[in-house]
Amino acid sequence: MITGTTRVAAVIGWPVEHSRSPQMFEAAFAATGIDAVMIPIGVPHESLALVVGALRAMRALGASVTLPHKLAAAALCDELSPSAREIGAANCLRVEGGRLFGHNTDCHGFTDALAAGGFSPEDKRCVILGAGGAARAIAYGLRAADAAAIDVIARRPQRVAWTTARPWTAIELRASFARADLLVDATPMGLHDSDADALDSLPLDALRAGAWVSTLVYHRATGLLERAKQRGHSTIDGRGMLLHQGARAFALWTGTTPPIQAMQRALDGALDGT
Ligand code: NAP
Repeated sequence: MITGTTRVAAVIGWPVEHSRSPQMFEAAFAATGIDAVMIPIGVPHESLALVVGALRAMRALGASVTLPHKLAAAALCDELSPSAREIGAANCLRVEGGRLFGHNTDCHGFTDALAAGGFSPEDKRCVILGAGGAARAIAYGLRAADAAAIDVIARRPQRVAWTTARPWTAIELRASFARADLLVDATPMGLHDSDADALDSLPLDALRAGAWVSTLVYHRATGLLERAKQRGHSTIDGRGMLLHQGARAFALWTGTTPPIQAMQRALDGALDGT
């Protein structure tokens, strides 16, 4: 029940209607008995500073930040965590003592999801497809987890400023895949049926037998993971990253161990409509 003592957390994005964070955090607050709610706030770009300023003024717990605000949110913070500073983006805002702290929980959320699935990046060679914000966070997380090497492959490598990206050519894909222990699709291609052809043309036959394949898509099965499974590879979809970035945000806001199972059940229920 919402009372006069209830604390507020927000999820901010544009659009935000698709977000399942409110269900996930409602379950987390209920499971831990924490008197707080999460509200979704749709924020157009020109209102971001106003809304973030209001969250700070009202002593909110903080906010989960989703597309397209992760970079702009970082610029509004008083202080950034080392990961948010290096990645240049904040997907989690925390208000404390009237100050605004920016964190990036996507990076370790991804490696938490790998760990939960049974994959350790330590001394492993990784290939990331795409070089946008998620790819950058994942590269940071994999480096922090002591990956041996990270190849980033981008369709416009000359535009990528944060790393030396390799070109998206058949030769480059085959060469990188052949030495990979982990392939991560960090493009939005799996979101749309119209991009299925591009993903279908990935040379999964070049992967070694023990390589893992991962995508960030969390709301539907992707052809990429289906093909990888058929070839005998272990796979991890994007749901674990969504869950674990949220779990880390919960811990930052409340100082309490996140109730992972309750959050996972709520997220699965919200995404699968059960
Ligand atoms: P972004 O910053 O827009 O980056 C997308 C990247 O994919 C860019 O490098 C882009 O290349 C590339 N790309 C797009 N379409 C492509 C195509 N047809 N062929 C080759 N490359 C293509 O987006 P983002 O924030 O990194 O997000 C990427 C995906 O991850 C989205 O689907 C998002 O929903 C998902 N995500 C999931 C989670 C989770 O918790 N599971 C968290 C964050 C993000 P160009 O620069 O050349 O366009």
